[in-house]
Amino acid sequence: MRRNVPLEEHSAVPDMISGKETAMADLPLPSIRVVVFTLGGTISMTGGGDDGGVTPSLSGRQLLDSVPGLAAAGARVEVRDFRKVPSGSLTLDDIAAVAAAIRDEAAVGLSGAVVVQGTDTIEESAFLLDLLHQGDEPVVVTGAMRNPSMAGADGPANILAAVTAAASPALRGLGCVVAFADEIHAARYVRKTDSTSVAAFTSPSTGPIGRVAEGQVRLFSRPASRLALPLSSADLPGLLPGHVRTGLVTMTLGDDGELLRAAAGRFDGLVVAGFGAGHVPATLVPVVADLAKAIPVVLAARTGAGPALTATYGYPGSELDLLGRGLIGAGYLDPLKARLLLHVMLASGATRDQIADAFRAAGGHAVGRLVSSVQPDPPPR
Ligand code: ASP
Repeated sequence: MRRNVPLEEHSAVPDMISGKETAMADLPLPSIRVVVFTLGGTISMTGGGDDGGVTPSLSGRQLLDSVPGLAAAGARVEVRDFRKVPSGSLTLDDIAAVAAAIRDEAAVGLSGAVVVQGTDTIEESAFLLDLLHQGDEPVVVTGAMRNPSMAGADGPANILAAVTAAASPALRGLGCVVAFADEIHAARYVRKTDSTSVAAFTSPSTGPIGRVAEGQVRLFSRPASRLALPLSSADLPGLLPGHVRTGLVTMTLGDDGELLRAAAGRFDGLVVAGFGAGHVPATLVPVVADLAKAIPVVLAARTGAGPALTATYGYPGSELDLLGRGLIGAGYLDPLKARLLLHVMLASGATRDQIADAFRAAGGHAVGRLVSSVQPDPPPR
């Protein structure tokens, strides 16, 4: 099994503007401790591949050394090279291993953690970390849209903002957030909504919860509650192996249901990303209903923002019809995040009722039995 390489401490910070290098040994040791886990992604990619394309190559230390002004964040920053892959090749177990490593660090005194990875899957890994991280320490995920060789590479600024956020007491108790382009997004609402823009991350249903400016975190809003699954540290490694299989099927105009029929008998749980607020063609109702008799089927909205409704439309294939046939509503969780919650619940042995409770809690409705909904502490004044 792949494990962490030994901890490296960031000992010197080059100031890219003045060209000076500040030796950390000359500075008083800050009591704030932030650990940065690097997983690869564009932020670490340089050229040299056979086809001329960039591939993950930079170490965590090289990434930190490229960040001007990191010392001014006032934190002791340590780095762990954890993985070095494009983010589409990360596994759920990789992210569970990060969550376990953060717990280990928290046990010896941690102010906050930063996870640096490819942007393609940040919206999923950040939400998975949000579910698995029970501590109050902020977990901040970031990456870059432009690799280090490009004009205006955004990696250093994003790392600086992420470390600033992880060091900030204002984010304690809020679980996992994504820091990108100086905005802070709650993991459960953030999405990658652009394939190339440096402002690729948005929270279409809610907007960002804060920003980083002049080295300070400013929080505009606090999510009403957070959902963390009560899994022990011992549960985490090996929690998400391949023996649980969950899938996502998106409804399309004129869908004849062939993908849904193919899912029967192959998955332990399924998310259906329905039209609008959670609808399927009337002709597919029997297919979906049969699936829901066999496995948990979650109904999400394919729109990218807004909830799957529960009580508005009453025609065949509407949300009222489908929920009445045993589907579980995803509420405000988008289909990708709904699939992760379903996967973790199934992997931890939850029953259908417990899964439904978890979705009521995570989707923005009632607090469930199996899950804990932790009210964050008010920010220190
Ligand atoms: N393909 C890259 C990845 O997700 C994209 C990025 O990092 O921005 O690893």
